[in-house]
Amino acid sequence: MSGIKIECGVNDCTHNNMCYCSLGKIKVKGLKAKVSDQTCCDSFKRASILEDLVGKTEITNADSIPVSSFIKCEAIVCNNNAKGRCSLDAVQVDNIYGCTSCDKCEDTCCTSFIAR
Ligand code: SF4
Ligand code: SF4
Repeated sequence: MSGIKIECGVNDCTHNNMCYCSLGKIKVKGLKAKVSDQTCCDSFKRASILEDLVGKTEITNADSIPVSSFIKCEAIVCNNNAKGRCSLDAVQVDNIYGCTSCDKCEDTCCTSFIAR
């Protein structure tokens, strides 16, 4: 499988499809981030109740997992950051409080962050 697999525990983002991100590109913020919780997914968009109910694709096997082509990332202290772009082929995004519901970008974080 080519591309970047983004597993995401933020279930109330409109781009979340069965715990995977369905966007082709995302942007991660955190220019001054020293730890994972100081990063956040700038592409987060809170889903309406209607969006929560429709438009999700069933993931039946590895081939149907959505993949992204590009993660633009501000977190230059992260060891996986290569000139503003994430170098991993699999990334995990979560809620910093450990639940699945976020109100804003700052409630999300890239848990694949590793400090240099
Ligand atoms: S929070 Fe970010 S990584 Fe997760 S589904 Fe939304 S846009 Fe994708
Ligand atoms: S692993 Fe690091 S470089 Fe990749 S998106 Fe997360 S914070 Fe950015």
